[in-house]
Amino acid sequence: MKRRREGCAVGIDLGTTYSCVAVWQEQHYRVEIIHNDQGNRTTPSFVAFTENQRLIGDAAKNQAAANPRNTVFDAKRLLGRKFSDPIVQDDILLWPFKVTAGVDDKPMITVKYKDQEKKLYAEEVSSMVLVKMREIAETYLESTVKNAVVTVPAYFSDSQRKATMDAGVIAGLNVMRVMNEPTAAAIAYGLDKRTDYGGERNIFVFDLGGGTFDVSLLTIKGTVFQIKATAGNTHLGGEDFDNRMVNYFVQEFKRKNRLDISGNPKALRSLRTACERAKRTLSFQVVATIEVDALFQCIDFSSSINRAKFEEMNMDFFNECVKIVESCLIDAKMDKSRVDDVVLVGGSSRIPKVQQLLQDFFQGKELCNSINPDEAVAYGAAVQAALLSEDVKNVPKLVLQDITPLSLGRELFGGIMDVVIPRNTCIPVKKTKRYITTRDNQSYDLIEIYEGERTRASDNNLIGSFHLYGIPPAPRGSDLSEVCFAIDENGILTISAKNNASGSSDAIQEAENYHIEDMKFLRKAKVVNELDYFIYKMRNALKKKDINIKLTSLEIKKIELSIAVATNLIDENNQQVEIDVLEDHLKRLNNSMEHIIAKTV
Ligand code: AMP
Repeated sequence: MKRRREGCAVGIDLGTTYSCVAVWQEQHYRVEIIHNDQGNRTTPSFVAFTENQRLIGDAAKNQAAANPRNTVFDAKRLLGRKFSDPIVQDDILLWPFKVTAGVDDKPMITVKYKDQEKKLYAEEVSSMVLVKMREIAETYLESTVKNAVVTVPAYFSDSQRKATMDAGVIAGLNVMRVMNEPTAAAIAYGLDKRTDYGGERNIFVFDLGGGTFDVSLLTIKGTVFQIKATAGNTHLGGEDFDNRMVNYFVQEFKRKNRLDISGNPKALRSLRTACERAKRTLSFQVVATIEVDALFQCIDFSSSINRAKFEEMNMDFFNECVKIVESCLIDAKMDKSRVDDVVLVGGSSRIPKVQQLLQDFFQGKELCNSINPDEAVAYGAAVQAALLSEDVKNVPKLVLQDITPLSLGRELFGGIMDVVIPRNTCIPVKKTKRYITTRDNQSYDLIEIYEGERTRASDNNLIGSFHLYGIPPAPRGSDLSEVCFAIDENGILTISAKNNASGSSDAIQEAENYHIEDMKFLRKAKVVNELDYFIYKMRNALKKKDINIKLTSLEIKKIELSIAVATNLIDENNQQVEIDVLEDHLKRLNNSMEHIIAKTV
């Protein structure tokens, strides 16, 4: 369904370590990657809290070493996961900021902001990054941006996709589509090469980023882009390589100085930054140096690492990547010799050893790195955003056929996973399955929905559960339920069930996935973010007043007052003020400033 857009629609690559925003330029018939206020085309997905302000992007990353406990990054790794998830537990050990279990085992990040403790969900942190990307686009486009296509790793689960959508809602964006990253990259590559291919081409997208690894095999036939199979690991990427190097140098520092820096967030942050830089250097030089002044207890640290050592310490990760490539081809039932192009995406695909292993696997095939690996995903998302916008006419008419990355099913009596939608099924899709009673006079059906490939349901990821009551008394083997699985274009699942004899029905409602507390949190986070955005717009109006906006002195006073009111609401009182009151204030502020807002867009 096409949606009427308000302002421009953009594509946002919400990355674990860096984010990127792009827009389709109708008049030039091409995608523009939008640079931020520092002139960079990607922006660190970092949010920092200080005594007097909140910083996002480069400003947040630049002060990370000095303020490690209150500088949050990697929020994407937490999206849609439980605190007790072993992956989250492993990550926490390496992060300098505090993460604890919130309601329903949801991870909560604790920071100090303006001398007060502030608790945040990952969705809130990601929403702040999204707001920053939106502001970057608005500054460049000189208009409001309401609609966006946001990308996610193909291997993201249902709950991770929903959490990404929530982050968009909190950021006040209309998320037109959650799109798979390799699909977006394939669009970028396919469009780039569109004059070169005739007939059908099989393209393998290898996307190794900061925190995630995704591969996809797709076929381009004319204007139809069809994903055949996808595989990946939502927890494998450049940061893992950084961690190995950090641990290596922590040991070296211990040996040289008999001091353990592993409990010191500030020292670890400084070392991590130096390691990431050295890792990048090792992509084009064989030796890199590490120099950190006053790393710990005023001791300077200086060392070096060569490429061979770096490769050795990460070889298991690199081999894992190749294994995943192989499994994707097996899923697609395609021999590697039939792959026409291997496309590199994601910053970590620049690592020479990774490229060499991949090239060897594909029997010496030349790898395609003609598109910028950091920008390809946002590029494709921008094209998709234009395709979904009713009023963009001049855009390549592509048809995208995506698939679901994980099998979906329910638990059967005895704990077995009954797959209803196998992985790599084209989406959108709707499938219904009938179940029979397993005992006499069974009066209800407990429907537990899982995603994953393991035979035992409980080894997979539980998405949700509900009861279908009101089954009429009958002998074992009678009609129990008809369960319908529907996956939409975003890869998001809706489940419903009914009993034909009694007519009773039930469904997992979106809202049921959240506790009431969670719903409250979403509303509150949204209104606080919108107040923040209101302040941004008002400040912008003041900034532009001498350039292209004519404001009377009375209007200037009104703007200043409205900024003070909004700032006060979110700064001091937002812990106590009721949501309704905040929403009411926001409405009144927006109404009273309507004519000024209209002048600024
Ligand atoms: P992405 O998520 O695609 O933005 O990728 C970011 C990751 O790529 C980070 O872990 C970076 O350290 C890593 N990266 C960027 N450039 C290079 C490079 N030249 N060599 C190795 N890793 C890189």
